[in-house]
Amino acid sequence: MMKNACLAVLILTCACAESADRIADFENVPAADELTPSEQALLPDGAESEHDAELAAALAAIVPQDDAALFDTDEVEPIVDVDMDALTPYAALLRSGLHPRASDGLRAAGVAAWRITQTIGSDPTSAGTHFRDGYVAGKPYSAATDLSTSGMSTTQVANLLERLAKLGFVCWYRQTGRDGWNGVTHMHIVYANAAMKASLRSQVRSWLAGRNGLVSNTTYQFHKFSAAAKAAVNAKWAMSNHGTSNAGAGISGRVNTAGAPLTIRASASTSSAAVGSVADGAYVSITCQQRGPAVTGTYGTTKLWDKVNGGFVSDAYVATGSDGQVAPTCP
Ligand SMILES: [Zn+2]
Repeated sequence: MMKNACLAVLILTCACAESADRIADFENVPAADELTPSEQALLPDGAESEHDAELAAALAAIVPQDDAALFDTDEVEPIVDVDMDALTPYAALLRSGLHPRASDGLRAAGVAAWRITQTIGSDPTSAGTHFRDGYVAGKPYSAATDLSTSGMSTTQVANLLERLAKLGFVCWYRQTGRDGWNGVTHMHIVYANAAMKASLRSQVRSWLAGRNGLVSNTTYQFHKFSAAAKAAVNAKWAMSNHGTSNAGAGISGRVNTAGAPLTIRASASTSSAAVGSVADGAYVSITCQQRGPAVTGTYGTTKLWDKVNGGFVSDAYVATGSDGQVAPTCP
């Protein structure tokens, strides 16, 4: 469910004061921890020196298309992260070297293949940011990707950053001379629900702390990300067990009961047996959804039930960014 549904209900019931506080609590994503000195030392320098020449050549080689108007808003629908272990078929990669989930996310954000200038750095001496992170279905990937921002206004760049973050990408606009960056202008992004190398894990942590993802680790100035964007990245980050696993599949949601743990039921009904619980504020991976008896909760009344770890919870208590169905229908 999304908060607007709650607002609509609030207006009807005039229970505004107390519940408005609940929304504020939910949106107030806790400040992330600062990096340790050893984590910070893993961050790239302000020119990503090993691959900057390679990136500059890739950016120079692209043929720009006139599609910047696609980024006139920051609206985007959440995506379902496909199950890598089960080798669930996924759409063709937008470009080789992408993690399949990152490819799906870029497609959802409206990023065309021509903007993807770098995935895995091909310089064999490079052990840097774009070095291979692993293999999925036998294909190598890097969780880090560089995008061209050719033809985009500052507002459109900010809209794309916001869209990508709402889909689970850590992302920075790297403009020459800004925010500690001295290399070529581009956008550097890392998908948070993927197993990744330690330097990229440091970058995700730096982003969550509102910093620039470079060894200077200064406060990022170009764009201030929304609470929804930070919550989405946090959710994907939890699904990858902080960048160490490709096992987390589904769509991310966040439980909001305003206090009590949420009961997990054996099937999609409050009369079904309790099989566990999940804490208020916890992130969950929703693998599928189905209809069941209506439940009224934090986000209003809905018949939608979410399949999470080992059972079902009512979508009335789960923020997914949408009032509608966001994951596949359960088999
Ligand atoms: Zn890069």
